[in-house]
Amino acid sequence: MYIARLLYPVRVLGPGRRVGIWFSGCSRRCRGCSNPELQERDPRFKTGRETVLRMIAAVREISAVDGFTLTGGDPFDQPEALRELLPALREISPDILAYTGYRISELRSRGYRDILDMITVLIDGPYVESRNSGCFLRGSDNQKIHILDRSRASFYGDYLRNGRNEVQNFRTRDGFISVGIHRPEYPRELQEALRSRGVFIGRPSSGEIPEETAPEQFSDNKKD
Ligand code: SF4
Repeated sequence: MYIARLLYPVRVLGPGRRVGIWFSGCSRRCRGCSNPELQERDPRFKTGRETVLRMIAAVREISAVDGFTLTGGDPFDQPEALRELLPALREISPDILAYTGYRISELRSRGYRDILDMITVLIDGPYVESRNSGCFLRGSDNQKIHILDRSRASFYGDYLRNGRNEVQNFRTRDGFISVGIHRPEYPRELQEALRSRGVFIGRPSSGEIPEETAPEQFSDNKKD
């Protein structure tokens, strides 16, 4: 399987403190995709079920996991990986929220019903930049939220009724990763806001950025 990253605690893509799992590779190539770097399946991200589960176990040693959010890339471009992972994830938490660029009808006709049976909530459909209207949990309003597990309908109904989009920034070795449903103008606004505070993103070719503003020194992930 090809997994680009795991992040915890993700609070903005589903209820509670979740492990977010970003799959590497997506065949859809939506314009304005918020993770274009994950569209190509990158061989550097090849890993195995046990490695992923070990990382999750390490998280659970220090904190509770309320659920999992699968995104990417497209998790459904790796159906065998989902079949391997999902039973083990469900033993930790039955709350599995998955994003996909496919429509649920396509997934059914591809023979993925067994996978859908292990998913609590599916958010389906391609991202359409012109329809990014700030809908809660959805990148664009053509996407649909399917509560597949009826036993969670009331809980998710309340969560969806009361929720609003937020963005969470995680510091990583290479800089930071911004998680959540972003408006199209968010990256530019963020750059401008950081610049106004003397913070610059990325490694300059011109050498104009002073050492002390290197990405490793960001103070981010303020919610946590
Ligand atoms: S389906 Fe999602 S990950 Fe794939 S290209 Fe579209 S927005 Fe990006």
